[in-house]
Amino acid sequence: MTEDLLARARRQVLEGGDGLGYADLAEVLRLPDAEIPALLELAHDVRMRWCGPEIEVEGIVSLKTGGCPEDCHFCSQSGQFTSPVRAVWLNIPELVEAAKQTAATGASEFCIVAAVRGPDVRLMSQVREGLRAIQAEVDINIACSLGMLTQEQVDELVEMGVHRYNHNLESAKSYFPEVATTHSWDERWSTCEMVRAAGMELCCGGIVGMGETLEQRAELATQLAELRPHEVPLNFLNPRPGTPFADLPVLEAADALRTIAAFRLALPRTILRYAGGREITLGDLGTREGLLGGINAVIVGNYLTTLGRDPKDDLELLDELQMPIKELSKTL
Ligand code: SF4
Repeated sequence: MTEDLLARARRQVLEGGDGLGYADLAEVLRLPDAEIPALLELAHDVRMRWCGPEIEVEGIVSLKTGGCPEDCHFCSQSGQFTSPVRAVWLNIPELVEAAKQTAATGASEFCIVAAVRGPDVRLMSQVREGLRAIQAEVDINIACSLGMLTQEQVDELVEMGVHRYNHNLESAKSYFPEVATTHSWDERWSTCEMVRAAGMELCCGGIVGMGETLEQRAELATQLAELRPHEVPLNFLNPRPGTPFADLPVLEAADALRTIAAFRLALPRTILRYAGGREITLGDLGTREGLLGGINAVIVGNYLTTLGRDPKDDLELLDELQMPIKELSKTL
């Protein structure tokens, strides 16, 4: 039975380049621990065949942290919970400095993030000013993550020269009502569709380990495959104090590795990025296993509200694994 699944995945995904569907992905997520090494090897082969050995490196900076009116239950930036994250705005010189530091690591993408439901006029003008200042001084692609957008805002971001837009589905459609109540999964989906239709690269992923079933994890992977994003950031829940998900258990390392492989088998050609939570779920060893199990992009430095690994550690590991960093010239 198990052999059938991996043999089928080899034929369909590795040889044919077609991602696995829902039923097969659910089966992948239920594979016994003993099958994980073979599963990761297959996922790695798929990544090498359809994406190549290069790794995309990205840095992120928070333009506005905390005080968000939404109630995403995993998020310490919601103003509705007692999480210890205060609302803070970054200024333009700090933003440019962060972009310079990111570029110095060899990263090709710099993502400006704001904890908001969607941008207002003030935020859009700050972003415009920030983009101009970075574009004048730093050679790097600029991405934004500013919440839900209107069509006018999508068009404005394209005109400003935003290269990529991040907006996550966060969870499977069937589980989303357990994750947030102040907006719907369909609203998220429609922002993603507008972004892609306007010609920006779409970065869209989610968080696993929020209490969803394995089937719902497979559902998220198939919904992402249907959306066809350029990149999928894969987060593991890092339960933050004060949030409704504070007491959820951290995902087991074996489940995290099965999830990485399943997402790669669902999305053979997509950039699959390790985002938040990998340190707590997988530790240093797991970072290596994930990079050899389908992951081909990393965020260097700190995440939005928690500390990540030292960029040096990640860059040394990539060097040791002989995975070259994707150059800026190849991403334009
Ligand atoms: S995930 Fe985004 S929209 Fe949701 S509470 Fe956090 S900052 Fe707000």
